[in-house]
Amino acid sequence: MSLSLSNPVLALSILNSATTRVLEVGFCLQVFGVKKDCSLKGKNLIIVKKFEVNCLKDKNMDVKTSALVDGVAECLNEIETKEPSVSTILMNFENKFDPYGAMSTPLYQTATFKQSSATDNGQYDYTRSGNPTRDALESLLAKLDKGDRALCFTSGMAALAAVTHLVGTGQEIVAGDDIYGGSDRLLSQVTPKAGIVVKRVNTSDLQEVASAIGPQTKLVWLESPTNPRQQISDIRKIAEMAHAHDALVLVDNSILSPVLSQPLELGADIVMHSVTKFIAGHSDVMAGVLVVKGERCVHMKMKGLCCVKLMVSHLLLGKRSVFSPKCRRLWLRNSRRMHRKLPSFLASHPRVKKVNYAGLPGHPGRDLHYSQAKGAGSVLSFLTGSLALSKHVVETTKYFSITVSFGSVKSLISMPCFMSHASIPAAVREARGLTEDLIRISVGIEDVNDLIADLDHAIRTGPL
Ligand SMILES: *Cc1c(COP(=O)(O)O)cnc(C)c1O
Repeated sequence: MSLSLSNPVLALSILNSATTRVLEVGFCLQVFGVKKDCSLKGKNLIIVKKFEVNCLKDKNMDVKTSALVDGVAECLNEIETKEPSVSTILMNFENKFDPYGAMSTPLYQTATFKQSSATDNGQYDYTRSGNPTRDALESLLAKLDKGDRALCFTSGMAALAAVTHLVGTGQEIVAGDDIYGGSDRLLSQVTPKAGIVVKRVNTSDLQEVASAIGPQTKLVWLESPTNPRQQISDIRKIAEMAHAHDALVLVDNSILSPVLSQPLELGADIVMHSVTKFIAGHSDVMAGVLVVKGERCVHMKMKGLCCVKLMVSHLLLGKRSVFSPKCRRLWLRNSRRMHRKLPSFLASHPRVKKVNYAGLPGHPGRDLHYSQAKGAGSVLSFLTGSLALSKHVVETTKYFSITVSFGSVKSLISMPCFMSHASIPAAVREARGLTEDLIRISVGIEDVNDLIADLDHAIRTGPL
């Protein structure tokens, strides 16, 4: 194999770095036309930096350089071609709008922008409709979820409320029956006022979904895994069913984040994240995002609905999260993290009756889950069989803070029936297996052995 390169600087940069360890090579290799099935073998890894820039600089071919590159070609053969991983995308996202090339994304904390003349509006005029900082965030989030564009909102609920505006009077939404409490209230108390019919089904049962979707269905809404029961729904199949009726599919992926799953790749049209959770990751920001794919969503009137769009002052707080490289690494670590030890420790504990976690062997949706996600995330729930014991555990642990939320670098603990899920009628909760002794934990980045010892102590010292 030989490579024709447009530029000697590029060629030499490949040679220079041939002995260096590789981080990411995907994009460059696609340009080189290297086959996708090459295997990655330890040391033959290359970093090619600034490929596109070098290519553009000089289109003249240098014969000598070409000969040199021939020698390197074999090692290129052994490099896997893949798309950049999430960590690389996070570290390399561009803020093209910034004329000074600031390494740290500037915050344009202004409600309005000056115009150069009375008739020329410029790129930005008013922050509700457009703001460079928000554009940078949206472009990053669109990339992470492999969407066509992203729209940020002041909260996850604001994002979800905007989605309901895509459905008109007399049309239907088919939604999961085990979804987030706020979504449950939105769909049962607010959306029907607009004359929209909301059908609730168990989305982990494809038959139920199939019989609910009809010609009036415009939107299918699901979460997988659900929280806190961790039911798994087949996103690919549900998307096929919905699309056969020309309906859109919304996946609320707040519990996993784009690090672990990208529902747009599985056929969903809209993915929503409560940015408040894993994307911000520090319990200090409220925001929501919709990432959309396909003509229908991109051009839908969502932008016009963005009266609740994210304000930049919120991002000031978020400076510590998505915009800060250090915090982005932390965020990644947190999203990926659920040390295998912790769920198995709970599952084998004599005083724990049941653990709900899609990552555990024996979970009924485990195989399906791993066919559509890279991991099971860092939220799980468990039952002790005793309300008194569960209350003791929640109030006794040292390293788990009692909060309604999840998705922080800090470990969190809650009793859903008294907190996040209190608004669901007791009879409905019982029927769904959400008994009062249910404990939910969101595992942070503390040392897993300390967390296990903490939980173990709390469980063992509780009342019988
Ligand atoms: C938290 C959450 C929401 C709502 O997001 P906010 O940012 O709190 O408005 C929606 N869906 C799920 C699954 C959530 O966990």
